[in-house]
Amino acid sequence: MERRTALRNIGGLFLLPSVSLGFTEETQKPVLRIAHLTDVHLKDELGAPAKFAKCLHHLQEQNPKVDLVLNGGDVVFDMNKENISTINKQWQLLNNTMKNECSLPVRYCLGNHDIWWNENSKADTFYGKKYSMDKLNLAKPYYSFVQNGWKFIVLDSVHLDIDHTWYIGKLGDEQFNWLESELKTTNPEMPVLVMSHIPILTALLMIEDDIVNKWTMLGGDMHTDTSKIISLFYKHPNVKLCLSGHLHMKDKVVYNGVTYLCNGAVSGAWWNGNRRETAPGYGLIDLFADGSFEEKYVNYL
Ligand SMILES: [Zn+2]
Repeated sequence: MERRTALRNIGGLFLLPSVSLGFTEETQKPVLRIAHLTDVHLKDELGAPAKFAKCLHHLQEQNPKVDLVLNGGDVVFDMNKENISTINKQWQLLNNTMKNECSLPVRYCLGNHDIWWNENSKADTFYGKKYSMDKLNLAKPYYSFVQNGWKFIVLDSVHLDIDHTWYIGKLGDEQFNWLESELKTTNPEMPVLVMSHIPILTALLMIEDDIVNKWTMLGGDMHTDTSKIISLFYKHPNVKLCLSGHLHMKDKVVYNGVTYLCNGAVSGAWWNGNRRETAPGYGLIDLFADGSFEEKYVNYL
């Protein structure tokens, strides 16, 4: 970012056309500006609806304008094992808020709190992912699309653990095979952005109190198939940026040319102020045609 700005300033100062510095106007301007919202955890308590509306207004007032909103999951406060009227109220609130406060296109990703898992009621129609997929108009829990020269791959991180009582972060064979063929069939010149709810790679799990002689990492906190995904990305250097949330803290890990951004939480500490050192916020990301990007975390409250 600094280099880009500095070069532009030098260009202006000496009235040199930017093309003489090896940049064309085309590569300097972002092709797309996105707002990455994650972990909104919307419910009608703790002033959440008004604060979320403020967040939506804040991002729509950005200049240059945001083109696309990516919602990284945990859209509603919590569907896990709640009764259906509580669940319906949360989704109703989300739909009303989005309809009234946001005029931008939004692409959604499923989070663990968007899925209803009462293991005693598997026969219920809202068991599993189908209910929230319907609410979010998703035909599949993972999908891809192309916009302004970038490919966006939205993953479904959340799967039941082997004992079927809790979730872990993984893709599973079917989705992994899909991701593999998706990357294989993408033009290698086209930059790729991946969004998942659970981070594929993060350093945040090492921030823990009371460590004695080892860290404990839960399979629900970070993808358990990280090694496999990273090996796949290594074969496709056009994968540039991976966005996630889930941990409600902001970090940035760069490994092998891929940037893994865990982008805090719109709800901060579940609408109770900051989560550790991370304030409620959203990611603002400019994507460039050459696969580069500029990003910052914006506190909106
Ligand atoms: Zn989550």
